Amino acid sequence: MRAYRGRFAPTPSGPLHFGSLIAALASYLDARHQQGQWLLRIEDIDPPRCPAGAAATIQRQLEAFGLHWDGPVLWQHDRNAAYQQALERLAALGLAYPCSCSRKQWRDHSIYPGWCRDGPREPDSPLAWRLRTDLGPTPVSWQDRLFGHQQFTPTAMGDVVLKRKDGLWAYQLAVVVDDADQGISDIVRGADLLDNTPWQRQLQHALDLPTPRYLHLPLILADNGQKLSKQNLAPALPETPDAARPLLHRALVALDQAPPASLASEPVHTQLDWAIAHWSPRSLQATAERREPRHNGF
Ligand code: GLU
Repeated sequence: MRAYRGRFAPTPSGPLHFGSLIAALASYLDARHQQGQWLLRIEDIDPPRCPAGAAATIQRQLEAFGLHWDGPVLWQHDRNAAYQQALERLAALGLAYPCSCSRKQWRDHSIYPGWCRDGPREPDSPLAWRLRTDLGPTPVSWQDRLFGHQQFTPTAMGDVVLKRKDGLWAYQLAVVVDDADQGISDIVRGADLLDNTPWQRQLQHALDLPTPRYLHLPLILADNGQKLSKQNLAPALPETPDAARPLLHRALVALDQAPPASLASEPVHTQLDWAIAHWSPRSLQATAERREPRHNGF
């Protein structure tokens, strides 16, 4: 079996909030419980969405929670050459194609209908690059460690964009190239990314890359039933270890790890030592949507 290597891959569109702590913590515990490495990748491929300083804030927040990563941080803004090489390989295999269509042109369709598969309709206008889902394995199936057997039909999901018309790389290509280059054996992330996995598996197959194991985590919802996200103004996590203590404990409760109540006032490293030793992904409740536990003023 491959040596365990996990990762946390935040998009620095703002500070981490409680929902992102769940993904960071679960991926960290899963890695450390298996004596594995845990890497940090900053997914800043979309600069207009990433305010200055957000990545530094994220790193301070992780440190405050005692979530120390191994090795240097990988920055997606440095990875243009690797993504370009992967795209060229896909294009040479006939698995990626340039596309001139705008969303407006195919608005009567639920997914992109593949009009440019045999050549861009308007070759002189700006071109995006898309994956040919019809030539990859379909349906795509795998065993999720929490949600069990998964089967999706990428052709029914559409030819996903790999590179945007404005020249920016799309998440699907970048994440697959980086997970492979970083030697990631295990991906632990939120269930909101579960239905992205079929495209990623098609890309891994097309590029002849190893396939990681997947554990998608139940989503934690705010008290109003909305997803906890920056858009919904979920509060930012603190940046000091003392303020982190009760939140770390709440995150362990949200992950169904049943930490002793007395642990809540202990330093973060004591809580993490307990959580690493007792980490039990089997205890996670496999519901796609979960309510955030009640909290006090956070
Ligand atoms: N960058 C993505 C996010 O912050 C996560 C990507 C992943 O874990 O695959 O939502």
